[in-house]
Amino acid sequence: MKVLIIEDEKKVSSFIKRGLEEEYYTVDVAYDGKTGESMALNEEYDVILLDIMLPQKDGIAVLKTLRGEKISTPVLLLTAKHTIEEKVEGLDAGADDYLTKPFAFEELLARLRALLRRSETDKSIHLKAADLILDTQTHNVTRNGIEITLTPKEYSILEYLLRNKNRVISRTKLSEHVYDYHFDTDTNVIDVYINKLRNKIDKDFDKQLLHTVRGVGYIIKDN
Ligand code: CA
Repeated sequence: MKVLIIEDEKKVSSFIKRGLEEEYYTVDVAYDGKTGESMALNEEYDVILLDIMLPQKDGIAVLKTLRGEKISTPVLLLTAKHTIEEKVEGLDAGADDYLTKPFAFEELLARLRALLRRSETDKSIHLKAADLILDTQTHNVTRNGIEITLTPKEYSILEYLLRNKNRVISRTKLSEHVYDYHFDTDTNVIDVYINKLRNKIDKDFDKQLLHTVRGVGYIIKDN
């Protein structure tokens, strides 16, 4: 799952980023409204955390632009003051939920899970390829009933490949999904992760699921 945080208070954004990364999310951060807006328009995110009081362009204006451009990514507004007017304006502008600062990290996680569940109506909770099963709620991965322990990056790569099962995913696309916006993409790093992943999900089993398409990228196939 990839999250965009648009929040100018660096203490808050880095706190959220660190916490979410521990929970297997991939996180991008923007510190002003204009940058955040262009990232939201140009990248694919599963959810956006949007502060209201932002430099360059305020959160409500950013939200209106995104909805105007038909970006339907769930948006959780972060508000400093809890005036009714501000909340109503935010929800009217197309926000899915809001959270008043300061908030407990546990509450943020719970609301994110709720938002993702709602937007997951057409996405299954269990992603499968043959006897490999990934549970997107618990992050539990098994193959033939045997539990497989993955690091957050390995998990993130596997989840993305499974969501795009039977389709070749380029290394560039994979690294875009797995890394921060500002990460200087060295796709060789992806190969290292793929090898580790392959050792865990394929090595001890008869059928190989994760395939390399030489010069192009990777694919997970049922058969
Ligand atoms: Ca702010």
